[in-house]
Amino acid sequence: MIPYGRQQISAEDMEAVRAVLGSDFLTQGPAVPAFERAVADYVGAPHAVAVNSATSALHVACLALDLGPGDLAWTSPNSFLASANCARYCGAEVDFVDIDPHDLNLSVPALRRKLEEAAARGRLPKVLIPVDFAGRSADLQAMRELADRYGFAIVEDASHAIGATYRGHKVGGHGWADITVFSFHPVKIITSGEGGMALTHRPELARRMELARSHGMTRDPSQMGGTPHGSWYYEQVALGWNYRMTDLQGALGTSQLGRIEAFLARRQAIRARYDRGLAQLPLWLPAPDRDGRSALHLYPIQLAPEAGRERRTVFDELRAGGIGVNVHYIPIHTQPYYRALGFRDGDFPAAEAYYARAITLPLHAGMTDADTDAVIAAVQAALA
Ligand SMILES: *Cc1c(COP(=O)(O)O)cnc(C)c1O
Repeated sequence: MIPYGRQQISAEDMEAVRAVLGSDFLTQGPAVPAFERAVADYVGAPHAVAVNSATSALHVACLALDLGPGDLAWTSPNSFLASANCARYCGAEVDFVDIDPHDLNLSVPALRRKLEEAAARGRLPKVLIPVDFAGRSADLQAMRELADRYGFAIVEDASHAIGATYRGHKVGGHGWADITVFSFHPVKIITSGEGGMALTHRPELARRMELARSHGMTRDPSQMGGTPHGSWYYEQVALGWNYRMTDLQGALGTSQLGRIEAFLARRQAIRARYDRGLAQLPLWLPAPDRDGRSALHLYPIQLAPEAGRERRTVFDELRAGGIGVNVHYIPIHTQPYYRALGFRDGDFPAAEAYYARAITLPLHAGMTDADTDAVIAAVQAALA
């Protein structure tokens, strides 16, 4: 089976983890701050807060922005569950903005219309959570203009998009988002096993996220309400969690980051081979890059109506032939949990129409040209 995503682990990665195992610190040592520094420098952001998953990073980001009961967060229905759940963790309400059928990201025209209606009703979102779907940056500059006009904050879910660029900046480095979140799950661009990171240009948000990831606890006298009883003294100044990344993970992440450009180049080459090999088939292929370089986490195809085939049949045939296809994503609002909150089929028709036709082809840095050609041949056979 050629999986849709898979990690690439080198001898250097193994050595980096082994070195931590033999060191004094398995957690709370130097490897996590080193990974934070390396990612912050790579994308060009001043502050980075590493946590144990992107889901946790989204949660601490929402907490840092004071999202809470009575507040509203908006996100894309075409995403993984965590993009919406993070607001529910904070007790906030969630709503969605439909996608652009071309680039499959949250649609800026739809956002503009929804904001006008929301302003008229006096029910604006506090936080917008755009998603860089498949590794392509959402239109953050346009969203920042709307954020400044309507007074909401932006948490960019860039779980797919470390290494992507947008209008001359790396994703996470331009500051149009208040906070940008990366995932280091093994199917993503680089991995730390599990892991996530929140990047920001705003020191106060970084400080609040650091508190939230570690019990709300501080040893910094300047952050304390009281006077230290001695050098052992710590204070809990907020409610926090244990969302820490381990040093094993930090070391693996730093080692992986050293090869990110090679990973991204390999993904570009596979995308180009798919684009050529699939061009003549009754398929809608991913939109070409615009405003920057996609990190190409995913290669989602859609069956065109003239294919005359059910998505389910094609999917099952590909799986039976050893092609580890997947589907990204079932629209979040159609999940039973969100239906119970009042969402219905038809609420976000572009996301639903895309989902009905979508199949994610395998795409990861370990795929050879022969693997890629095997996927192309299997798709050709399934559509013949
Ligand atoms: C993978 C993913 C997440 C969650 O990442 P974890 O690190 O597994 O918690 C969140 N949002 C999107 C869009 C993702 O693809």
